[in-house]
Amino acid sequence: MGANGREWHSFAVEEVARLLQTDVDRGLKEVEVPELQKKFGPNELKGQKGVNPWKVLLGQFTNGLTVILLLAAVVSYAVQDYAEGGVLAFVIIFNAAVGFVQEYRAEKTMDALRRMASPTAKVIRDGGLDRISSPGVVPGDLIVLEVGDVVPADCRLIEVLNLEVDEAMLTGESLPVAKSVEPIKEDQASLGDRLNMVYSSTTLTKGRARGIAVATGMKTEIGKITKSISETASNSTPMQRRLNQMAYVLFGISLLLAVIVFAVNKFKFETTIILYAVSLSIAVIPEGLIAVITIVMALGVRRMATQQALVRKLVALESLQAVTNICSDKTGTLTEGKMTVTSIWLSGKDQLSVSGDGWNTTGHIYLRDQVLDNSDLLSDIRFRLLVECSALCNTANIVEASGGKVWGDPTEIALQVFAYKFQMGKPTFKKTKEQLTEFPFSSDVKRMSMLCRDVGRDEFEIYTKGAENVLRVCDRVIKNGSEVEIVSKEDFMQTVEAQIQIMAKQGLRVLVVAYGKETESGMGKPVMKWAREDVERSLVFLGLLGIRDTPRPESKRAVDQCYRAGIIVHMLTGDHQDTALAIAKEVGIIRPPPNRAEESVVPLFNPVMTAQEFDALSEEEIDDLAELPLVIARCTPATKVRMIEALHRRKKFAAMTGDGVNDAPSLKKADVGIAMGAGSDVAKQSSEIVLTDNNFATIVMAVSEGRRIFSNIRKFVLHLISTNVGEVIVLIIGLAFKDRSGLSVFPLAPVQILYLNMLTSTPPAMALGVEAASKEVMNLPPHTKGLFGKELLADMMAYGIIMGGLILTDWVLVIYAFGDGNLGLECNSAENLAECNTVFRARSTILIVFTWMLLLHAYNCRHVRFSLFTKDGGGASKIFSNRLLVVSVFVGAMLPIPPVYIPTLNTEIFKQETISWEWGIVIVSVVAFFICSEVYKFCKRKIMTSHPI
Ligand code: ATP
Repeated sequence: MGANGREWHSFAVEEVARLLQTDVDRGLKEVEVPELQKKFGPNELKGQKGVNPWKVLLGQFTNGLTVILLLAAVVSYAVQDYAEGGVLAFVIIFNAAVGFVQEYRAEKTMDALRRMASPTAKVIRDGGLDRISSPGVVPGDLIVLEVGDVVPADCRLIEVLNLEVDEAMLTGESLPVAKSVEPIKEDQASLGDRLNMVYSSTTLTKGRARGIAVATGMKTEIGKITKSISETASNSTPMQRRLNQMAYVLFGISLLLAVIVFAVNKFKFETTIILYAVSLSIAVIPEGLIAVITIVMALGVRRMATQQALVRKLVALESLQAVTNICSDKTGTLTEGKMTVTSIWLSGKDQLSVSGDGWNTTGHIYLRDQVLDNSDLLSDIRFRLLVECSALCNTANIVEASGGKVWGDPTEIALQVFAYKFQMGKPTFKKTKEQLTEFPFSSDVKRMSMLCRDVGRDEFEIYTKGAENVLRVCDRVIKNGSEVEIVSKEDFMQTVEAQIQIMAKQGLRVLVVAYGKETESGMGKPVMKWAREDVERSLVFLGLLGIRDTPRPESKRAVDQCYRAGIIVHMLTGDHQDTALAIAKEVGIIRPPPNRAEESVVPLFNPVMTAQEFDALSEEEIDDLAELPLVIARCTPATKVRMIEALHRRKKFAAMTGDGVNDAPSLKKADVGIAMGAGSDVAKQSSEIVLTDNNFATIVMAVSEGRRIFSNIRKFVLHLISTNVGEVIVLIIGLAFKDRSGLSVFPLAPVQILYLNMLTSTPPAMALGVEAASKEVMNLPPHTKGLFGKELLADMMAYGIIMGGLILTDWVLVIYAFGDGNLGLECNSAENLAECNTVFRARSTILIVFTWMLLLHAYNCRHVRFSLFTKDGGGASKIFSNRLLVVSVFVGAMLPIPPVYIPTLNTEIFKQETISWEWGIVIVSVVAFFICSEVYKFCKRKIMTSHPI
C-alpha cells in the first residue's frame, strides 16, 4: 500500500517525491539516510539467504569420518570400555564443535561476501551517484537503473528511456514489459498493469530509467511472496567432494581392516580384539582434515576480500590455481578506464588535439602547437554538430563540473566532458532539444543513436556515434557548410579508415560521429514507431573523435608475472584492432622479439585477430591454429564464448572477465568467471569472483593466492594422511604380536591414536595451511592434475612406511631387545598392570617417538623436494618464519609427557607406563626419521626432473 490509502502507481511523480520527502534530481540528503535506515530496516528479504545454524550443525555429524568415530564409540560402550568410549564421545563433540564454529563463520563470511558482491543499487543522494549494496536502499532513494540491473526495491518510475523489464518471476508474464511514467488512474490495477512501477528482483532487459524507491525489504511485492528467491549455489568444491568420497573409501578400508583383525584372531569376539578393530578404524581416519580445510579456505576467502577480490563460490579458490589462460577485457581492467577525448579529425583537415586531462571540463584545441579559437572552430557546422552529438547522444551526467562529480560509462563521460569544454554540455540543450528515444550502445552493435526533437519544429535530429560500422550508414558529408552526397563510397571509406588506423595506432579508441534529419511525413510513420534501422541510415558523416585510456601502471608487471607463471593472457576487447594492438604492446601481452628465457611462451604466430576473422573460422580451423590469438579486437560476447570453448577443447583452464549483461554466458562457461564490481548484476551472478577494483593485477593476485592455498592444502593433506598410513602399518603388522592367550596386543591404544591425530597432528597441519606463499608459487606452471597427484600419493606412502617401520622397530627393541619379551595377558585393557609393564612402557616410547616424528614431519612437508637444510626447503633461516608452526611444534613436543607420567591417566586411559632408559630410543628414532626423510628427498631430487606436483 502506498500513502493516504492509495497505491503508489496512482500518484503523479511530484506527489510521490513530496510524500517521500525526496528530490527528483538530487535524491535524498545523505544525512537523512541513517535515520531512514533505522526506521525501515535493511532492504532484504528475511530468510532469503542467511546461514541456517542447525543445518551446519547437522552437517558435522553426517560426514563419513564422524560416522566411523560414532560407530567406534558405540562399540567401545558395548564392550564396556567406558574410558575409551568417553574419549571418543569427547573427540566427536570437540570435532563437531570446532567444525561447527568454523563452518558457521565461513558460511557467514561467504554470505556477507555474496551480499557485497551482488546485487548493488545505483542511488543518487545529494546529487551524486553512488553504487551501494542493495540492503542500504531506503524508501525515497532515487534509483538509477540500466539494462542488466536487478531492481533493488519497488520503485515508482520518474524517467524512462526504452525501458523493458522482465517481470516473469512476479507476474508470470514471459515477455519483457515496456514501462512508462504516466500515473495510472485505476488504484487497484493488477501488478502487471502498473506500468509506471518496477519491482524488486525483476531485471531490466532494455533501456534505462530512474525511479523513487517506494517500498523496501519485506514490504516489497517480492517480500510479500514468502517463497525464497535466493539462488542456491552449491558451496562444496570438487576437492571437498573428493575428500568426502575419500571418507567413504576410508570407511570401507576400516571395515576391511576390522575383518582382518578378527580373521587373524580366529574370529574370537573378545573385548580386547574388538578394541583392536576399533583402534584400526580410528587410525585410518584423518580426524582433523575437514576442520583444517574449512578453516584454511575461510581464511583464504577473507584474505582475498581484503585485496579486492570477493569470492562468491568456494570452488573458485580451487579453480584459480589451475588457471592456464586469462581472457581479460581491456577497458577499465588493463587500462584505467578513465577516458579523455584527446584527438579530433574532420575530413580534409589535419588531426587536432585536445588538452585537459581526465574529467577536467576546461581545455583547448590545438593544431600541432598552436591553440585554436573555440568560436572559430564552432563556426564550422561539422565541428558544432560533432560537439552537439557528444553532448546529446550521451548517457553520462556531470552533476558538478567543478567538483568532478560525474556518473556514467567512461566513454560517455569523456564525450560529455569534451562538450563541456565548449560550454555545450547536455544541460545547455534542455530548452532547445528534447531527447526522445535512445537506441542504446551494446557490445554487439557497437554504436549508439539518440533521436531528438528540435523544440518548436517538426524536424527530428539523429545523432549517432560508434565504431567504423557507422561509416556504412553514411551517404553524405558536409563540404563548405552544406551537405553533399558521397560520390565514391569506396574512396570515402578508404580515406576515413586510413585515418582511423592512424589514430588507433596511437592507442586511441576511435568513434565515428554522424548526424541526420528526418520528419514524420518523410519517414511515413509516427516518430514513436521509428525503429533503429529507420534512423541509422542515410546519415551525414561528421568526423572522428579519438579517446585516450591509459594502461594501469600495474598491468605490465601483472602480465609479466603471468608469463613467468605459465599463464597466457588474452585481451578480448571491443576496440579497433590497432588500438588493441597498441595497448597490448604497452602492457606486455604482445612482446618484442623473444629473448632466450622467454622463448617457450613468446608467440610465433599471428597474435592479433578481429572477432570477424575468428568467428569466420570453423571449430576445426580454430583447433588447427598453432596458438589461439592473444588479442581479439572488435570482440562481441558471442566471440568470448567461442574463445572459451576453443580453450576447453585444448584442455586449458580459463578465467574470463566480463561486466555486461551479454557477458553472462561466457562468464558461466569459463572455469573462473570474474565479474567487475561496477558491472551488471547479471554478470556478477554468473561469476565465481567479483573484483571490487576492476583491476587486472587483482586477478593475478587472486591466482597467486589460489596457488598458495592449494599448495598449502597439499602440504597438510600429506602431513595428516602419511600419519594415518604410518599408524595403520603399525597396527596391521602389530597383529602378529600375540599374548599368552593367543590374542593380538595393540602397539598403539585407541586413545593414543586419537591423541596423535587430534592433538599432535592437527595444529601443525593448520600451521601448514597458513604458510606464506613461497617464491616459487608464481614461477611454476599451473597445477592442473587435481589434489591427489602421483607424487603426493607416493609421498604419503613413503613417509607412512618410514614412520611405521621406525615405530615397529622401537616396539620390538623395547619389548624384545631391551625388555623381557613378555607380551603379558589382556594388555589391551588395564586389568593386569604387573604383567603388562613391558608392553605399557613400549607404548609410551612409541607415543613420544610418533609425536616428535610428526612434528618434525611438519617441517618435511613444507617442501616436497628440497632438503630442510636448503633455503627453499624451509631452511634454517625459515625455521621460525611460520610462528604458528613453531608454537604448535613446541607445545606439541610437550604434549605426550602428561599421559606418560600422570598416574592412572597413563595406565587406565592410555594403557601405558612411565619410562626411563627408553628416552635413548626416542632420540635415536627421531634422528633416524630425519635422516630417512632427507635421503628420500635426495633420491627424489636425483630421479625426478619434472616440476614438483
Ligand atoms: P573492453 O572489452 O576492452 O572492455 P569495451 O568492452 O569497452 O572494451 P566496447 O565497449 O564493446 O569495448 O566498445 C567497442 C567499440 O564500440 C569501441 O571501440 C567504440 O568504437 C564503440 N563504443 C564504445 N563505447 C561506445 C559508446 N558509449 N557509444 C558508441 N560507441 C561506443
